[in-house]
Amino acid sequence: MPFCPECRYEYVPGHKECPDCHVKLVEELPERASGDPSEKEYVELHPLPGHIYAEMVKEVFDKEGIECILIPDVISTGLLVKGTDVAGNEVRIRVFKEDQEQAQEILHSMMDHI
Ligand SMILES: [Zn+2]
Repeated sequence: MPFCPECRYEYVPGHKECPDCHVKLVEELPERASGDPSEKEYVELHPLPGHIYAEMVKEVFDKEGIECILIPDVISTGLLVKGTDVAGNEVRIRVFKEDQEQAQEILHSMMDHI
C-alpha cells in the first residue's frame, strides 16, 4: 500500500502522489524518529529518607518546573513501620532524564539544610 510520508495517509494502490501534500507516496512509512518527545526517559535520584522529605522536594521541583514521580518503598511501609512513625521509610524519586542535573543540584542543596 502506498503511504504519504507527510500526512501518513494510506492510499489505494495506483496512487503516486498525495493530493494534499503534493509529495510522492512511499511503499512503507519510515520509523518514527527515536527522539519522540512523548517517550521521555526517567531516571531515579537518590532515595529520600521519608515521605515528608519527598513532599518537600516535590514542592521545590514543582516550582522549578521539574516533573517528578515519588515511589514509596512498599516493603518498609507495609510491614515494619506502624502509625505515624516514618523513620526508615525510603521514598524514591524519579525525574525526566533531561531534568536530572538540575534536580540533583536542587536535591543536593536541600539535603544540606535538612
Ligand atoms: Zn499527504
